[in-house]
Amino acid sequence: MKQAVYPGSFDPITNGHIDIVKRASRLFDELYIGVIANPQKKALFSVDERISLIQDVFKNEPNVFVQGFEGLLIDFVCQKKITNIIRGLRAVSDFDYEFQMALTNRKLQPDINTVFFMTDAKYSYLSSSLVKELAYFNADVSDFVPGIVLDHLKQKMADINNA
Ligand code: ADP
Repeated sequence: MKQAVYPGSFDPITNGHIDIVKRASRLFDELYIGVIANPQKKALFSVDERISLIQDVFKNEPNVFVQGFEGLLIDFVCQKKITNIIRGLRAVSDFDYEFQMALTNRKLQPDINTVFFMTDAKYSYLSSSLVKELAYFNADVSDFVPGIVLDHLKQKMADINNA
């Protein structure tokens, strides 16, 4: 059984993430999307909200699972007895950080491999931060996120603006 973990903040999940999941889930029998609960990073959506949005997006994909985790990625991956980590690469700017993380994780656990998927060109500039910034200023982000995320983003922004 080939299994992999695709970790990230997914705050919120975008079409760029979805493209990576679709391609990785064809290569692996089981793909676990690991939603990082990072107390140092201020998120717009709670971990539970992010998980529930992702579950909705992949409700028809039987080999895609979603789980939240705290602490080190390598601990989460080892605990699940999985040896493959999926990451996406958009531009050269992603490379430095991803290279450092992949080598650090290999140093901690030599059996674990990081597998990189190149972004689809049309999502190469897309990030959750960009989506949040655009949504905050009421710009149309319907090309960047699925409908369910769009609805929740609109609600979040309305809550923020009414607070
Ligand atoms: P993190 O905080 O771990 O970087 P993100 O949710 O921003 O979490 O990203 C998770 C993974 O998805 C990272 O490997 C990132 O490079 C990749 N990713 C994010 N957006 C895209 C995109 N538009 N195309 C391809 N990969 C992406």
